[in-house]
Amino acid sequence: MDYNLYINGESVPTENHMDIFNPANGELLGKCPVATRDQLNMAVAAAAEAFKTWRNVSDADRKAACHAIGQILEENAEELAKLLTEEQGKPLNGVGSRFELGGCQGWTHYTADLELPVEVIQDNEEGRVELHRNPLGVIGSITPWNWPLMIAIWHVIPAIRTGNTVVIKPSPFTPLSTLRMIELIGSVLPKGVLNVVSGTDELGQMMSEHEDIQKIVFTGSCATGSKVMASAAPTLKRLTLELGGNDAGIVLPDVDAKAIAQGLFWGAFINGGQTCAALKRLYVHEDVYDDVCAALTDFAKSMPVGNGLDENVVLGPVQNKMQYDKVKRLVDNAVDNGARVLLGADPDDRAENGKGFFYPVTLLADVSDGLPIVDEEQFGPALPIIKYSDIDDAIARANDSDNGLGGSIWTNDMAQAKALATRLECGSVWINKHGMLQPNVPFGGVKGSGIGVEFGVDGLKEYTTIQAVYL
Ligand code: NAD
Repeated sequence: MDYNLYINGESVPTENHMDIFNPANGELLGKCPVATRDQLNMAVAAAAEAFKTWRNVSDADRKAACHAIGQILEENAEELAKLLTEEQGKPLNGVGSRFELGGCQGWTHYTADLELPVEVIQDNEEGRVELHRNPLGVIGSITPWNWPLMIAIWHVIPAIRTGNTVVIKPSPFTPLSTLRMIELIGSVLPKGVLNVVSGTDELGQMMSEHEDIQKIVFTGSCATGSKVMASAAPTLKRLTLELGGNDAGIVLPDVDAKAIAQGLFWGAFINGGQTCAALKRLYVHEDVYDDVCAALTDFAKSMPVGNGLDENVVLGPVQNKMQYDKVKRLVDNAVDNGARVLLGADPDDRAENGKGFFYPVTLLADVSDGLPIVDEEQFGPALPIIKYSDIDDAIARANDSDNGLGGSIWTNDMAQAKALATRLECGSVWINKHGMLQPNVPFGGVKGSGIGVEFGVDGLKEYTTIQAVYL
């Protein structure tokens, strides 16, 4: 199949292309169009033109359009899920591509039904003051490669629901599924409301600098988020930055290790650990350390890893060589520095031979803060398990990070869990689970993990400005 840009309701070919490979076997999957600066300008101009009308379309019609998108996603879910598996690597089943497409539909319908009614903040003899929520204009959306379709939906739907128009740019690692999805859902919208351009990282920088884009919603690494902020500064763009995380989980001594093993495993290994709010450092009290290590290892070793098109597989390859090399470097360094390998850490030669970036599920014991596998975001299938004896010390170590996306507490004592949760410096805290997101709950990072939130009414507001009307 040919993939093209989608600009002003039309499929637009490009002169240049990049090859996109299946991370499970190294085979060529398709050719990604590489947009020029002129083509980006065309997309932004189409979005700016469409904004003139779309901003005035009734709320009911915009809501209906979002529900129509949800319907298209449902009708094409299986095609998109298969393409997503071939491109991203995640399995069709488990918490994989079908799950991601289900999330796209759920988020779309939920966000379609959200309202931002006019707020009356004063109504007395001195007058009436209303707060109106106005759309911003053209939104530039820049997405990563780990949950490409879900994150695209998280950006696009609240933007168009509130009367904005969008130019989206997917990651150069996973562009094809987004190109196909946007072409499909764009067909139910007026021309120019939703456009997609693909290409290299430079296209993202051009968007951040573009003077006719009013806001950038960016999901990706901290390093790139900071570049986006710098290039957006001269035009004073509004920003939502959803950046990296290095989430800590803290296991208290009262747990039943076997009962929490499954939750811990999926908290850490969802999408092979390539998830912003995955559990990336596990602090376990010394009284239950050996039991938790044993229970987690028992659970983890039964998980089938392979090509995600195989219906039995629940974990796929790492998405790209750069990430594979990073995980390998961090694990090798930990092992060289005394980490005890409970599982994994012994990749076969498929990645070296271009036959798939398979890194085994890896559990490392007897590690501590100061090792790069603990201090850096590994973003892959390797979990360091750290022993602690004093809870105040564990909280301090969990907070000793530039990141602040999520965290979790594992215990049967709810009162203590709540008290400890509020001491974690992060945007979301879970008790006895990790990383579950919901469309009605605002999600975002503190510290270096980002600026702003997505989801729910608070997320919707980020695509608007307040206009105070004095009557
Ligand atoms: P990345 O920062 O390398 O790339 C993200 C996007 O930015 C891509 O589309 C890329 O082309 C673009 N880009 C690159 N350079 C740019 C520049 N100078 N200006 C503008 N755009 C540019 O991130 P990634 O490797 O694709 O994704 C993984 C990272 O994303 C991890 O750190 C992960 O934690 C984070 N993430 C965060 C969330 C969240 O909600 N907080 C969700 C998913 C992923």
